[in-house]
Amino acid sequence: MNKVRGILIGRMQPVHNGHMEVIKQILKEVDEIIIGIGSAQLSHELKDPFTAGERIVMMSQALAEKDVDPSRYYIIPMQDINFNAIWPSHVKMLTPPFSIVYSGNPLVKQLFCEEGYEVRQPPLYDRLHLSGSEVRRRILNDENWQELVPQASVDLITEINGVERLKNLSVKEVSDL
Ligand code: NAD
Repeated sequence: MNKVRGILIGRMQPVHNGHMEVIKQILKEVDEIIIGIGSAQLSHELKDPFTAGERIVMMSQALAEKDVDPSRYYIIPMQDINFNAIWPSHVKMLTPPFSIVYSGNPLVKQLFCEEGYEVRQPPLYDRLHLSGSEVRRRILNDENWQELVPQASVDLITEINGVERLKNLSVKEVSDL
């Protein structure tokens, strides 16, 4: 029988507990999940500090932490393209076949809906705190960001001196004004 596959695409800057919770829920509904690491070309920017490779490590280690069977997921980096209308085809070209798109992002939902895909909006978990922008804000302000992310993200960010990177980026971008 054909496997039912769903896709979740996110910038994951960085991977946080909201992503992990939604992936856990999606895995209850599909046989396999495709996790797209979006805006893969971006890094070393305040809003997008981590490289695609760094985000892949965070995600794969976080899934291992949660004992997710590796045969049930694919992690695929995806560069942005300048043409929204053909972005779903670009994504399709990069991934195993899928039938369900999971997203809370209005543009992502709109684009895949227009292509005839089934689009499901997963519930948001503690969106006030579980967002990449809140994690980055806390990192910059020396607040407790570690409680919002899996241990794998803490480990990777520590390994690459990510806190220092983000702080240096904030100084540079302010002085560039
Ligand atoms: P994100 O990391 O903010 O979120 C990804 C998904 O994770 C969300 O859709 C949501 O379903 C889930 N999520 C996040 N926080 C959650 C929480 N607290 N609880 C439950 N679920 C939560 O990423 P994003 O900005 O939505 O990523 C979309 C990607 O698609 C971007 O990289 C964007 O550039 C790309 N994109 C590209 C094009 C193009 O190239 N033309 C067009 C559209 C989108």
